Amino acid sequence: MEKKEQKILIVDNNSEDRNVLRRHLLKDVESSYTIFEENTGAMSLAWCRSEKPDCILLDYNLPDMNGLEFLAELADTSGSLPFPVVVMTGVSLEPIAVQAMKSGAQDYLVKGNITTENLHRAIQNAIERVHMLRTLEAQRYNLEQKNQELQAFAYALAHDLQAPLRAISGFAQIVNEDYQAALDDDGRYYVSSIVRACTQMDRLIDDLLNYTRIEHRPVRCQPVALYPLVMQIANSLSERIAETSTSLTIAEDLPTVQGDRTLISQIFINLLDNALIYRRPGIAPQVTVSYAPLEAGYQICVADNGIGIASKYHDKIFNIFQRLHSDEEYTGTGIGLAIVKKSAELMGGKVWVESEVGAGSTFYVKLPG
Ligand code: ADP
Repeated sequence: MEKKEQKILIVDNNSEDRNVLRRHLLKDVESSYTIFEENTGAMSLAWCRSEKPDCILLDYNLPDMNGLEFLAELADTSGSLPFPVVVMTGVSLEPIAVQAMKSGAQDYLVKGNITTENLHRAIQNAIERVHMLRTLEAQRYNLEQKNQELQAFAYALAHDLQAPLRAISGFAQIVNEDYQAALDDDGRYYVSSIVRACTQMDRLIDDLLNYTRIEHRPVRCQPVALYPLVMQIANSLSERIAETSTSLTIAEDLPTVQGDRTLISQIFINLLDNALIYRRPGIAPQVTVSYAPLEAGYQICVADNGIGIASKYHDKIFNIFQRLHSDEEYTGTGIGLAIVKKSAELMGGKVWVESEVGAGSTFYVKLPG
């Protein structure tokens, strides 16, 4: 199959230099080119908008602008160049050519050292590289789209499952409460199992909705004073704190961080909730919320004296649906820490754990100050 002619735009106001390039392009036996020439940056930019070249050979010194200014004008709103550009410079301007490559040019050639072969290679590599970048960008965009669709699907699914689940749960409870006498032991066991499973599924749907909601709402970062926020959450857990004889210590000088109030609340709700759940049998939980200042921001610590986590699970537990225990041992959905991780990351922070089995766990959250 005959190769399509590639449109090459030579941007150079020196006719002798243009002729040199033209001669090399015409001598190229591997590729065939349609050659266009312009004298000024402004004329070239106007030409590019209507004609769309396959590659631009750009002289660094133009009468109306320099190469960097040309590249800045050519770049699209995302800052990337819409066409491959090879910069032509004199020897003394080599550092500037490197600068031009940082601004998106694909390659540069030093005038005087140009051969048919190296010009061919520079043009074809530039075209190939831009093509690959485009393909990668398109794939990334598609992936993002698919991801968003999937999340919207998960949200809609979870949302739509709530109504039928409520019906099942409601009727099972009625049978459980009002028809005890009509059932034998097996019947009563089956019905209470349905009620239990419904409660577990309801929790799962709630957590899943919470997780997908986090992704969908805009992140609004503002100064958030941590002490009153954590105290408020602790108050909402006061019944369970009392039931489990937990001693909770919250550092009174917790700092004000730069973050989204809802996301920060989600972090503490889930970490404190877990600290109350994963306690060692027969040992009153001791939970401490403290912090350490960092160069940029703060490291918040939530430490407990609970069952601890084996080191091989330290990363895995932050994945959605990752649980280390059965529901009979400790109830849960495996979504809490995924919410913590997502929340921290959406604010430009991160989260990790240090823990040993039987020796408690300390969760660290890094947040911007
Ligand atoms: P869930 O608690 O609903 O199972 P999470 O995502 O909150 O889900 O936690 C994932 C797993 O990490 C839990 O199943 C538990 O095994 C472990 N884990 C979380 N927090 C703690 C903790 N404070 N101490 C010990 N294990 C924990």
